[in-house]
Amino acid sequence: MIYLDNAATTPIDNEVLQAMLPYLKENFGNSSSQHSAGRVAANAVLYARDKIAKILGCPAEEVYFTSGGTEAGNFALKGVCAAKGHGHIIVAETEHPAILESAKDMQKLGFAVSYLLPDENGIISPSAIKSEIRRDTVFCSVMHANNETGVIQPVEKIGKACKERGVFYYCDCVQSAGVLPFPTEFCDGLGISAHKFYGPKGIGAIRIKNGAKISRFISGGRQESGLRGGTVNVAAVVGMATALEKAVQDSEVNNKKIAAVRDWFVKRVLTEIDGTQLNGDNLNRVPSNANISFDGCDGENLLFLLDLKGVCVSTGSACSAGAVSPSHVLKAMWYKDERAKSAVRFTFGKYNTKAEADKTVEYLKAAVAKIRGGKG
Ligand code: PLP
Repeated sequence: MIYLDNAATTPIDNEVLQAMLPYLKENFGNSSSQHSAGRVAANAVLYARDKIAKILGCPAEEVYFTSGGTEAGNFALKGVCAAKGHGHIIVAETEHPAILESAKDMQKLGFAVSYLLPDENGIISPSAIKSEIRRDTVFCSVMHANNETGVIQPVEKIGKACKERGVFYYCDCVQSAGVLPFPTEFCDGLGISAHKFYGPKGIGAIRIKNGAKISRFISGGRQESGLRGGTVNVAAVVGMATALEKAVQDSEVNNKKIAAVRDWFVKRVLTEIDGTQLNGDNLNRVPSNANISFDGCDGENLLFLLDLKGVCVSTGSACSAGAVSPSHVLKAMWYKDERAKSAVRFTFGKYNTKAEADKTVEYLKAAVAKIRGGKG
């Protein structure tokens, strides 16, 4: 198998798995229990929270564990809205459904929502944010790096614009964690998800700045300072901390390696296959992503033909796979339906090689020729 869908999820790193195993077996205690088994688990959670906080650059009490990136986004948006009661929120049209659907939920409850469009490179302008902020704006969400195009947003300027007007700024860092420096000082909320950086699935975290007005998200026990009830998934938390530490430590080396394979792949595709276009800003993008449109082809058909050869890619985001409508991200970038529908997302990871990129180019050439009516 050639796995080129690392933005959807990544395989667990063996070091991460080894760090988790004791907390699934002998150290199985509940971190809320008061006996020694509980204390062992609680210490592991304490240590993991500290480690993550240090990496994010915030106090440990600002880190709350969640079930992943989706919950982090829901927590931020709905938690702030619940605390405020009413008002206006701003979200980029290119956000993940975790944010877009949460915004729709709040709209039904009476909140006003502005959906901001990016330019044709996928970038949200900080000045557009500035002019969209109203007296009653309570929340703004613009992600760090887009999951479909890999485009990096000017989060520092967006954060400053929000801060000036006292607006809670949430930055979804699910695709940038372990790749780019965290924009912690420029935002009030920040979300990560372990399975995007070689950690386990079903675990993530949100950092909420001390003093921010936010309501609890899951009612229950006193876990996560009372804001998110439920028994802590100790093994997953340990795994996430280990994975994040490793991802950040190795990021320079990995980014370089991944970008080299990705750039080689993009160059070959764009020069050797006619009618291809790279989607999204060419410079401001994470090293892993190549989102490419193939004239006259349906992205879904290309995905299917590549899958038959054992190559895993994606059209749009994995969360919306199966939907027949073109990618909301590419549509928001003013692309015509044909270009959006013919897009395929290739996302490279630390285990991919140049040889895999070469093989994929050959399979792609045949698949494109077949779809366009050639011999294939
Ligand atoms: N935000 C972004 C940018 C993502 O890419 C994803 C997952 O694809 C999520 C949020 C959701 O994360 P999770 O799968 O942990 O719920």
